[in-house]
Amino acid sequence: MKITMLGTGAALPDPDRGQSAILISTESGRHYLLDCGEGATRQMLRANINPADVGVVFLTHLHHDHICDFPYFVISGWMLNRETSPVLLGPKGTRRFSDHLFENGAYQADFKARSAYPLRKANLAAVRPDVREIAPGLVYDDGELRMIAGHVDHLPHEVCECFGVRVEAEGKVVAFSGDTKPCAGMVDLARDADLLIHECTFPQSFIDHRAKTGVGTFSHTSPLGLGMLASEARAKSVVATHFGHFDSTSPVLKRAAGKHLPTELMGPHLMDEVVRDIRRNYAGPLRLADDLMRIDL
Ligand SMILES: [Zn+2]
Repeated sequence: MKITMLGTGAALPDPDRGQSAILISTESGRHYLLDCGEGATRQMLRANINPADVGVVFLTHLHHDHICDFPYFVISGWMLNRETSPVLLGPKGTRRFSDHLFENGAYQADFKARSAYPLRKANLAAVRPDVREIAPGLVYDDGELRMIAGHVDHLPHEVCECFGVRVEAEGKVVAFSGDTKPCAGMVDLARDADLLIHECTFPQSFIDHRAKTGVGTFSHTSPLGLGMLASEARAKSVVATHFGHFDSTSPVLKRAAGKHLPTELMGPHLMDEVVRDIRRNYAGPLRLADDLMRIDL
């Protein structure tokens, strides 16, 4: 299978990274999307994938940096002649999110205008997602690819359940953390995985800063935590992703993000610290994700 890291950033706009989105493509030509953050749809075009050919979307949780491209993805697929409803898997609240977008929601005027055309009327299924709210366990199986979801530790459950996922296909296993601090649930999902794609949102100094200032969640994974988790799960290779802008040189972010991040510490040099800290506990193959990075398993 082929994995394309469509977006590798986090919650803030970033000139160099899209938000969370990972595309998994099987030999038979099926495409599955894990998270649908800003830029996911446009990045598919850059990766030579038609959004209308992506049949399944799995949302790890409902933070905007994991879902905000979804209306664009669905309406684009409709306009690009998708014939069937995209399957949408996600935590409780996913149905409400989707139902409030299209024909009865925020894009109602767009729906009315476009559905007046015979060609668009012929594929209304494309803009009516097949929503399935999930619970831990097997959440998807089409005979070729299976997804097993498990709780991770990022937000209080009453706000939003957060999931990691273990994807099994073509004799290989890929695990993806979504957003979480290191937790036993993620170790289970990643057990002996051929590839662990794990969030690595902030170096420890940034997590400490956020815990102190109380702006934003600090339930994220530091490089040190990621190395320990990867080693405990015996993951065979690791891709770190969902970088929280700490490597950015954007003057706008540096000026504006002072309440969220210790901006005086920001810069690409921190990636050396990331690798060093992961390496303290994990010795296997390791890559730091960039947008459009491709991995063949
Ligand atoms: Zn996130």
